[in-house]
Amino acid sequence: MGLLTALDGVYGDRADAVVVDSRALSWEELLRAAEAIAERAAGAPALAVLARPEPETVAAVVGGLLAGVPVVPLPPDSGPVERAHILRDSGATLLAGTRLPEDAEGLTALPVRLADRASGQWRPAAEDPDRTAFVLYTSGTTGAPKGALIPHRAVAADLDGLADAWQWNADDTLVHGLPLFHVHGLVLGVLGALRTGSRLVHTGRPTPAGYAAARGSLYFGVPTVWSRIAADADAARELAAARLLVSGSAPLPVPVFEQLRRLTGQAPAERYGMTETLITVATRADGERRPGAVGVPLPGVRTRLIGEDGQQLPHDGESVGDLQLQGPTLFDGYLGRPDATADSFTADGWFRTGDVAVVEPDGFHRIVGRASVDLIKSGGYRIGAGEVEAALRDHPGVVDAAVVGAPDHDLGQVVVAYVVAAGEDVTERQLTDFVAQRLSVHKRPRRVVLVDDLPRNAMGKVLKKQLLEPGR
Ligand code: ATP
Ligand code: MG
Repeated sequence: MGLLTALDGVYGDRADAVVVDSRALSWEELLRAAEAIAERAAGAPALAVLARPEPETVAAVVGGLLAGVPVVPLPPDSGPVERAHILRDSGATLLAGTRLPEDAEGLTALPVRLADRASGQWRPAAEDPDRTAFVLYTSGTTGAPKGALIPHRAVAADLDGLADAWQWNADDTLVHGLPLFHVHGLVLGVLGALRTGSRLVHTGRPTPAGYAAARGSLYFGVPTVWSRIAADADAARELAAARLLVSGSAPLPVPVFEQLRRLTGQAPAERYGMTETLITVATRADGERRPGAVGVPLPGVRTRLIGEDGQQLPHDGESVGDLQLQGPTLFDGYLGRPDATADSFTADGWFRTGDVAVVEPDGFHRIVGRASVDLIKSGGYRIGAGEVEAALRDHPGVVDAAVVGAPDHDLGQVVVAYVVAAGEDVTERQLTDFVAQRLSVHKRPRRVVLVDDLPRNAMGKVLKKQLLEPGR
């Protein structure tokens, strides 16, 4: 079945099929506005969508997909440089949204009005599974954002895999408040709802109060959202009636996992993925919730771990290796970057995630972190930053922590911790001793830097490159 074919079958007469920031649309209103956009976008090389959290964004995205035009979601609060990079790089000629910049940055403006309808002459483009559905830009955690070409078939395969894993269906109300320009908030959070026929409630911003008031059956959040909810017992208890709480996009700290389990009666189901691969590993709704683990591969996804000498490592719960994968959800390459695309695959056709992982004998995956920043190589040891961060977070005086490998002429790298402390009486010495009591001594931070907060991007990921910049 094509990506959007499901729309024909599922849109019923619900008056509030899609609610974004308290503004409700029926499926019919959504489709009408989407078709008006599709009519105007047909034949364009790409349609940029200014992805504000509002119903017009959903209509514009669906319009682009109906027209068979690659959709390029733009972060609404991106600065002019980032925006210009994405617009130029993607080749978009149209910009859809509300309150568009005056000159629409050299593009033709396509204001989205929910009352608009198509002429009646227009027909959806024949759906070709190999056509590009989205040009999705990576978060830019490790470098400049790259445009990943995501075909319709990958989105459809991913959503069907998740529908299976999470028993996601038309009786669900999905609640989230995530940005509408990334995999999590847009592909899962909007198209997943449309494909499964579930009701979508987007809370505008991902606040505990918004999540608590929405009364959903299925909730999506990134770890920063879940940790705010875990710290707000009243809000968390309102989620006790939900069927499934899902966390992903960054590591979920174990204390947050445990606190949510206490307050809501259920631990969150983690999932792992990336822009280039969509979601590939997830905790099943009917399966075990294992703290610190992200779940098992979706149907059709195969994973392998590769060691330092290129050898394949066993799935024994101990071996730490580079995670590579194959499967139906993979992208078609980076737009205009054949070299980066080629580099991201091995000679025998496996995608290099750039993450390091451990796989348990029963298939549960643990993500250690990114090979480039979270795997610290110090004096012959390989140290996962996440393990040291988890140990620091166990200290009652620590609110948040990020650990990096700082260059060192003697050891190659040394462990340096950036810590947000709860009060003023936490000392560097206390923290290094605390870690040394819990972990092997070579994992003890050589330096602890107390900071007011950690630099994070819109998905709540710590920008470790910034921490390593000179002068911090
Ligand atoms: P860029 O590729 O531009 O540096 P990015 O990798 O942060 O940015 P995304 O594609 O949005 O952009 O994020 C994917 C990455 O997020 C994964 O490679 C992984 O490092 C991390 N990630 C996603 N889900 C999880 C999870 N459940 N636990 C730990 N890490 C996760
Ligand atoms: Mg990446």
